[in-house]
Amino acid sequence: MSRLVVLAGPTAVGKGTVVRALRDMAPEVYISVSATTRAPRPGEVDGVHYHFIERDDFDRRIDAGEFLEWATVHGQNKYGTLRGPVDERLAEGEPVLLEIDLQGARQVKETMPDAHFVFLSPPSWDELVNRLVGRGTEDEEERERRLATARDEMAAVAEFDQVIVNDTVERAAAELLSVVRGTR
Ligand code: 5GP
Repeated sequence: MSRLVVLAGPTAVGKGTVVRALRDMAPEVYISVSATTRAPRPGEVDGVHYHFIERDDFDRRIDAGEFLEWATVHGQNKYGTLRGPVDERLAEGEPVLLEIDLQGARQVKETMPDAHFVFLSPPSWDELVNRLVGRGTEDEEERERRLATARDEMAAVAEFDQVIVNDTVERAAAELLSVVRGTR
């Protein structure tokens, strides 16, 4: 069985928060660090939260086949998973957790169909809207764009092996951890 676990879900469902909680619970679990062309947010550290790279560098790596998957997210920036570190861990029999968007998850499903696909779901649509507004990191236009994307993304749940509801961060992270450890 592949030990690759792919976590996706609608925008602002809290994927990043759940993955951070999992990291605190189990620092030994390898969580892939994505590359992105977007600017760091306050507190984000290069090489820890993302590899923040220039657009030219990103495009060069696409051409060189370095990405397991990549996507333009919210019509703006590119995000992608570098293949090298993931392949290394899997070859050693270590589990790997990817936190990516839906477009990326679909690409991984094409190339690595044995991976385990987990959909992180909000407890309700209203809760998702609250979270998106409450985060306050995007302006009005950006928020509308993300909501439109999220509506489409919710419909994709049927493509996944498993659903985890993000009712509380700790519970969702613990459930995800048991999936990564292969105990569920
Ligand atoms: P944010 O800018 O809020 O950190 O992330 C925006 C979106 O990009 C999230 O939905 C996140 O899942 C997605 N994302 C982060 N890393 C990757 C990646 O490596 N590949 C893909 N396809 N999406 C990613």
